[in-house]
Amino acid sequence: MAPPIQPKIHIIGAGWAGLSAAVHASLHGWQVVLYEAAHHPGGRARASEHHGQTYDNGQHLLLGAYADTLALLGTLGVPMDEVLERHPLHLCDSQGHGLRLPRAAKWRGIMQATFNNQRWHARDRLSWLSWLASLGLWHLSHQVILALTGKSWDVSVSQLCALASPRVRRDVVEPLCLAALNTPVQEASGAVFARVMVDAFSNAPQSCDFLIPRVNLSSLLATPAVAWLKARGASLHFGQRIQALSDLPRLAHEPVIVATSAWQAAHLTRGTHPDWSARAQDLCHYPIATVYVSAKAPPPLSRNPDPVVMLETTLKAPAQFAIRTHFKSRQGDDQTTVWALVVSDSRGHDRESLIALVLAQAEHDLGLNAPQLERCIVEKRATFAALVGQRRPPMRVGPGLWACGDYVDGPYPSTLEGAVRSGQAVIEALKH
Ligand SMILES: Cc1cc2nc3c(=O)[nH]c(=O)nc-3n(C[C@H](O)[C@H](O)[C@H](O)COP(=O)(O)OP(=O)(O)OC[C@H]3O[C@@H](n4cnc5c(N)ncnc54)[C@H](O)[C@@H]3O)c2cc1C
Repeated sequence: MAPPIQPKIHIIGAGWAGLSAAVHASLHGWQVVLYEAAHHPGGRARASEHHGQTYDNGQHLLLGAYADTLALLGTLGVPMDEVLERHPLHLCDSQGHGLRLPRAAKWRGIMQATFNNQRWHARDRLSWLSWLASLGLWHLSHQVILALTGKSWDVSVSQLCALASPRVRRDVVEPLCLAALNTPVQEASGAVFARVMVDAFSNAPQSCDFLIPRVNLSSLLATPAVAWLKARGASLHFGQRIQALSDLPRLAHEPVIVATSAWQAAHLTRGTHPDWSARAQDLCHYPIATVYVSAKAPPPLSRNPDPVVMLETTLKAPAQFAIRTHFKSRQGDDQTTVWALVVSDSRGHDRESLIALVLAQAEHDLGLNAPQLERCIVEKRATFAALVGQRRPPMRVGPGLWACGDYVDGPYPSTLEGAVRSGQAVIEALKH
């Protein structure tokens, strides 16, 4: 007897959302046909070559709360401990002062870390703990009202932390909001921020850990996903940009998933689904700059051995975080370390002055000895801005046409986890 014929599904885009959709579709018995405009998969989260050196397209941090991303890596057989370095959440300056959560922090650990934080007075410590608890309650009431009435409401992160002390706002809320939402607190959605914070702080004990890739982003997910899909007979077309949905070689009943970025999805659907397209087009995007610098390790002035260091941010010192990477410097010797200094929401800076300011910040604030520029990558439309009260486009575009991507309606901001969840959710929706 001939094997049963698998139904075909067409996916446009091989970023983390498209790859997640492709893997889940394959697991649910679909025959996957994937089209990717670039010659390599990974989208915004991929390795990028420059003068023979490999960096990432921008430094990425994952959180222990990225449950679906970790599950996807597990499905692909990626050896998690080899590719991800797990560190407890430390929000400390280059002298090592700040909030240091212990490994597998539960409430007791969070309280202990709060009282050990030497940067804070007693009123800051109380302010932080009461703010964290009230954020959890706010999120819960938001969820209950949403479930009962179907209506969502929102306030800005700045309104949500109006009662927090200025130090708590400056040391924790503002940097975490920029890191997670790439949006400043005055504009950022309180509902989205509360969701990320609650997932990180109140779920499984290790959910607020930082996970730093030990390999480049392509080796982390895209390459294993492509190998896995090929082994399952998926048909993968790289270097093939879909110009119009009508160009797809498909039968009328075969579903299509648009897994591109928001602006490309808006372009593809403009003629056929103008309302959906307008909503995708309306999202506004903010840039992120990553300045890779190298210096002999360890930094002589720094007393903080953590791989993630929080920097005091001002107009003249624009980077918020410095992350010690696994990348090799151009010098190629083992004593030189490459740091990624990340400027979230880098609007208002031109490239050359940004590089000069960040190099000075690497020397004076991080304490690096004569830091050298390795590479500066400014991704102009890095993430959509998670604005207050925003209406994101839904995953169903029209009959037989679906969308997934970090921007599609969902609980998460523009993140790897948001993209992976969206890819998975669209396949679940297709089953019904
Ligand atoms: C600099 C930077 C730093 C970041 N830092 C973090 C971080 O620390 N943590 C975190 O969780 N997230 C971070 N993000 C966000 C994260 O990278 C994105 O949310 C995620 O990669 C989005 O994936 P996606 O699949 O939705 O979209 P994309 O990655 O944009 O993928 C879309 C794909 O579709 C393809 N495509 C487009 N049009 C067509 C077409 N017509 N035909 C065929 N193919 C097409 C594109 O080439 C692309 O490969 C960062 C992003 C950037 C840029």
